[in-house]
Amino acid sequence: MDRDADVIISGAGPAGTLAAYYLQKSGISALILEKSAFPRYKVCGAGLTHKILSILPFDIHPLVHTTIHSFRFSSGFSEVYTRSSGTPLMYCTMRDELDAFLLEKAVAAGAKVHTSEKVSGIQQYGEELTVKTSKGEYRSLFLIGADGASSLVARTFGLNRDIEWGMAWEAEVKSSPELISQYKDTVFLDWGTFPGGYAWIFPKKDHFSIGIGGPAYMAGRMPEYYEKFVASTGIPLNETISNRSHPLPVRIKKGVFHSNRIVVAGDAAGLTDALTGEGIYWAVKSGMMAAEVIRDRLDGKISDLALYSERINSEIMPEMLEARNIGALFNAIPLRIHHRVRDSERVWKAFGKVLRGERNFTDVPKAFGKWKVFWKPVCSLAYLIQAHKEKKFMKNAR
Ligand SMILES: Cc1cc2nc3c(=O)[nH]c(=O)nc-3n(C[C@H](O)[C@H](O)[C@H](O)COP(=O)(O)OP(=O)(O)OC[C@H]3O[C@@H](n4cnc5c(N)ncnc54)[C@H](O)[C@@H]3O)c2cc1C
Repeated sequence: MDRDADVIISGAGPAGTLAAYYLQKSGISALILEKSAFPRYKVCGAGLTHKILSILPFDIHPLVHTTIHSFRFSSGFSEVYTRSSGTPLMYCTMRDELDAFLLEKAVAAGAKVHTSEKVSGIQQYGEELTVKTSKGEYRSLFLIGADGASSLVARTFGLNRDIEWGMAWEAEVKSSPELISQYKDTVFLDWGTFPGGYAWIFPKKDHFSIGIGGPAYMAGRMPEYYEKFVASTGIPLNETISNRSHPLPVRIKKGVFHSNRIVVAGDAAGLTDALTGEGIYWAVKSGMMAAEVIRDRLDGKISDLALYSERINSEIMPEMLEARNIGALFNAIPLRIHHRVRDSERVWKAFGKVLRGERNFTDVPKAFGKWKVFWKPVCSLAYLIQAHKEKKFMKNAR
């Protein structure tokens, strides 16, 4: 039987479409198998931090609903303040539009796509793979699992280890043009109220995306937090179009992201950052890396796909692990950090630089100069305080 493509990609989110785009650009044929019909709604804030512009090979400005220059913060629904930046920090989009656009780019580059076709099984025979779907069977040399948080590919090949599960809710809420214009370039965050999590309002063209994220085991408390949060903002909920939850996978250790002829990328690899819940940037980055490593393998420059795991461990995981450390510190002393962001120009500028990609999470400990030797012990203590706070919060709920 002939091969259907050099590489099959399960999933047409940003990880899958960027991998397909780069494979095709390298002269390697890609077939995307996607279970949903496109365009499809995706539970996601679809906030893109400015740094994504430096890695995306396309202009995404036509997809941008709002360009964010300001953040309005509250803690415990009070102590509200707004901080602004002269340069854009974030762009709010909608995932149905963004993902359909990225898929079009992959198709324009020559990728084949089957939508409404769910991958149901994978078998490896020597040099080739057979991918089974709801509609048939396909053969390829390599497979990229870009099939999201509940990845069948990661589960099948034991690549879903060391994942800490978060959960996030998101509602799309229609609102009056007057109310939306009040927020048009501002994201609203409430932090330090829900241990280990936060709530957000992202303004879109004709509605708000309002959400909450936090540890999965605390998901039962999220609806109550959501209602109190929205009540504190005065946004009426009577035109809620959608209100759904979705898991957030956070990889908490370096590890293995490949198996023989298979790699996992994006959420399938657990690449959501624990501090902000950002995953689109990491999906794009890991999808591109998957394409580069498979290209090198096909060019005979490397003999297996271990380089993919090495690159994820050295280029992405340090950021993931430091984001988690910073998150623990924040959760231990949220009010103190809330006040630092309000009062310190240096801290606010550092926040902006991380969103713009001018600084990384791994630069944060370095900012403490000679005191950075205490960073690890302080973070260890912060994890203990965070766990204690979460337990207390859940106990008080009963
Ligand atoms: C409520 C919420 C808000 C979020 N907000 C943001 C945000 O503002 N900014 C940000 O950067 N990140 C955000 N994230 C994280 C972000 O949504 C993910 O990290 C991102 O979607 C990961 O992209 P991906 O391509 O890896 O996977 P996905 O976007 O999940 O794409 C996976 C694709 O695979 C398909 N699929 C799944 N199983 C199969 C199968 N068996 N066969 C074929 N196809 C399959 C799915 O239909 C889907 O299209 C948020 C997450 C949640 C839950």
